[in-house]
Amino acid sequence: MRLILLGPPGAGKGTQAANIVKKYQLPHISTGDIFRANIKQGTDLGNRAKAFMDKGELVPDSLVVELVEDRLQQDDTKVGFMLDGFPRTLPQAEALDSVLENMGSTLSYVVNIVVDPAVLVERAVGRRICRDCGATYHVKFNPSKEDGVCDLCSGELYQRSDDNEETVSNRIAVYTNETAPLVDYYKKSGKLVTIDGLQDIDKVFADIEKALEV
Ligand code: ADP
Ligand code: ADP
Ligand code: ZN
Repeated sequence: MRLILLGPPGAGKGTQAANIVKKYQLPHISTGDIFRANIKQGTDLGNRAKAFMDKGELVPDSLVVELVEDRLQQDDTKVGFMLDGFPRTLPQAEALDSVLENMGSTLSYVVNIVVDPAVLVERAVGRRICRDCGATYHVKFNPSKEDGVCDLCSGELYQRSDDNEETVSNRIAVYTNETAPLVDYYKKSGKLVTIDGLQDIDKVFADIEKALEV
């Protein structure tokens, strides 16, 4: 299965991607995670991406597209993939189409997680992430059993530096301008499934499972 996830920052893409890759045994390709790993390692790519990410702006298409093209050539994607956070612009979507075409494949589904914009800031600002395994929590909506400690691996939980109110608001505006038009783009392909992301995490996943089984 070759999947992409659409939805604004805080919609629950990363949370659901973790459920999806576990059930369907797919590689999870998160461009945000790849950039954060590069920043941590101090690579050239990380240094170039950081200034954009700190402001809540998109990293330029040229940097993102090449990275995803390379990632999709790796052997583990033969069984499919779960793309999370890509594509985010029309040129990225077109580049993905042509990479897949060259590989003789196409997308299976585009999962669009729809939420009321009013919940996004609270979701993103309360997000906490495990430093060791990347698991995502929320201080109110999905808390870890022990404060600041990952349930899965006992790693330390941290808050992303771009998960503050000002940057999140900017990311939501960027989503509306640059990424939301992709919903229409994929509607035309007939592969779009729309999921109500305002429900509990488990119910959102149950709806995704149902949509992917048809
Ligand atoms: P995205 O990857 O789309 O930015 P995340 O999956 O990281 O979103 O979720 C953002 C925050 O909201 C996280 O703290 C997560 O625990 C929480 N969250 C995710 N899904 C839900 C949900 N259905 N209801 C309430 N909180 C949620
Ligand atoms: P969120 O979970 O809130 O949607 P991500 O982890 O996906 O956030 O992305 C964090 C930041 O990384 C974005 O604000 C942007 O600066 C950069 N980024 C990630 N993916 C892309 C992409 N496909 N195109 C451009 N920038 C990206
Ligand atoms: Zn962990």
